[in-house]
Amino acid sequence: MLCPACKRSDTKVLDSRDEDHFVRRRRECLQCHYRFTTYERSEPIKIQVLKRNNTTEEYQREKLARGIRLALEKRPFSKDQIEAIIDEIERTILVLNVKRIPSRQIGDLVTDKLKELDEVAYLRFLSVYKSFGSAKKFQTEAEKLNK
Ligand SMILES: [Zn+2]
Repeated sequence: MLCPACKRSDTKVLDSRDEDHFVRRRRECLQCHYRFTTYERSEPIKIQVLKRNNTTEEYQREKLARGIRLALEKRPFSKDQIEAIIDEIERTILVLNVKRIPSRQIGDLVTDKLKELDEVAYLRFLSVYKSFGSAKKFQTEAEKLNK
């Protein structure tokens, strides 16, 4: 587990608590003593995903993870950080407490998250997710970011 402040991986757990599907841990960095909270997945999510063509399928972490890993490729994020981002998005899905979620809504959660983390990853994901038909559209979105 990386320290968000100094990026070292020596941390100690101060407190650990079970929440729905997640274990919440209070950690302290042994290097700089920064304290932070992590949520680690304890079991896979069971939820149905409503797809654009109106069929449903079982939620699969791997599908979500693939798009996010692709968007973050060669960006300054470690493997651990990327997994933590995926965990965080899953937690957001769980908090909704629904049995079924439209794939569009999952896509929106990912774009929102990437937007606050990394502009390049955000645009990459958006370009695939919204299937930009033209370079023009992509440029419009990129310009919106700079405002
Ligand atoms: Zn630290």
